[in-house]
Amino acid sequence: MDEKNWAGNYTYRAERIAHPRSVDELRELVLGAGSVRALGSRHSFNDLADDDRLLVSTAGLPSAIRIDEAASQVTVGGGVRYGDLARELQSVGWALHNLASLPHISIAGAIATATHGSGDRNGNLATAVSGLRILRADGELVDLHRGEPGFDGAVVSLGALGVVTEVTLDIRPTYDVRQRLFGGLPWDAVIDRFDDITSSAYSVSLFTDWAEDAVSLAWLKERADDPTDIGDDFFGATALTEARHMIATMDVRNTTEQLGVFGPWSDRLAHFRFEFTPSNGAEIQSEYLVPRANAVEAIKAVRELAPVIAPLLQISEIRTVAADDLWLSSAYGTDAVGLHFTWLRDQEGVEAILPVLEAALLPLGARPHWGKVYLDAAGVVPGLYPRLDAFRDLVTEFDPTGTFRNAFVARLLA
Ligand SMILES: Cc1cc2nc3c(=O)[nH]c(=O)nc-3n(C[C@H](O)[C@H](O)[C@H](O)COP(=O)(O)OP(=O)(O)OC[C@H]3O[C@@H](n4cnc5c(N)ncnc54)[C@H](O)[C@@H]3O)c2cc1C
Repeated sequence: MDEKNWAGNYTYRAERIAHPRSVDELRELVLGAGSVRALGSRHSFNDLADDDRLLVSTAGLPSAIRIDEAASQVTVGGGVRYGDLARELQSVGWALHNLASLPHISIAGAIATATHGSGDRNGNLATAVSGLRILRADGELVDLHRGEPGFDGAVVSLGALGVVTEVTLDIRPTYDVRQRLFGGLPWDAVIDRFDDITSSAYSVSLFTDWAEDAVSLAWLKERADDPTDIGDDFFGATALTEARHMIATMDVRNTTEQLGVFGPWSDRLAHFRFEFTPSNGAEIQSEYLVPRANAVEAIKAVRELAPVIAPLLQISEIRTVAADDLWLSSAYGTDAVGLHFTWLRDQEGVEAILPVLEAALLPLGARPHWGKVYLDAAGVVPGLYPRLDAFRDLVTEFDPTGTFRNAFVARLLA
């Protein structure tokens, strides 16, 4: 088998990929496998989704979308992509609280890794989950609801509990958003006014290559029902009058509409349009979620490393995520600031500089994004999760035979 992830930097080691069309078919595969993993839309960059023997793609599983207006909830197949759900919700006047930079990812795959967008008051995408249906290794379908024992450990699961066949998410009435971009945000402003900057709109992203004199882009998403009074000057940065891709060499048509034009949340909260390739494609990503209290120190530390990282970097993004209670969430127990790196697709080169970056960030409590490339050579990451022991117990309870325990999970729980 020669099957790769979306970015093409990882070749799956599994013997085969099965494509079940029903939960019964999925159950048969899981029961007969001995060792198996759910494969979502393949947007993670490491061996997290891999298995020695069998991968079951969730793309063909039932994709019905059921909205419960009275409960403000939607229940959806785990393999459904955010872009498809967003269109459906918007068409009947409902919305999610946030999206990641791309709408192409599967819902169950995204929540399994604590995928997030930006916004001081926005939890990651997993925080919208109020219920899960999980197919366990013994073939049983288990329903878990918010508030029940184990639920907080089961949402960001790394795929280790079983296959999530259905997810129930909180929804809210639809809202409009506009995007405005500002160029040349002085580093002094980022350092001195960080909280003011990131709290200035519903969602704020800063794009930089760290080596430049000023942050090249501040990308604001403002809600129509919560207007800001930001004019053409944003902490010293200037409002742009032409649309931009965050990677200067890429086609701006791939990005969602900018220049202050209001439109539905479903067409604005992601950076990239559903119809086009997100980001670059030929790339590797890493991201470290720093406790908010250490964010400015972390930013200063990465700037010091600019000469080391800039040659391999396409672009970096700084985002904020609200604290939550999900055991394996990168924002567990703390507001967090994501320092994201879109690298060139040079695996060796990236792995050569990550130790330097991690030596600066991990001591500040930075938690690597589960789905992106990190090394953690010193093995400090498990210690950054106070509920890891409880998660280990939950994995044993759900999957005593270790059917879903791939190499990634085995390393983490060793
Ligand atoms: C271009 C690009 C942009 C990105 N932007 C962002 C971003 O803005 N924010 C962010 O936080 N991350 C981002 N990511 C990372 C991405 O969101 C995560 O890697 C996410 O986990 C990918 O979901 P997937 O469905 O592709 O999962 P996969 O890579 O297929 O799988 C990831 C994990 O989820 C598990 N899984 C998948 N489906 C199920 C299921 N049904 N039941 C149980 N477990 C399951 C897999 O076993 C595996 O452990 C980006 C990635 C790319 C390629």
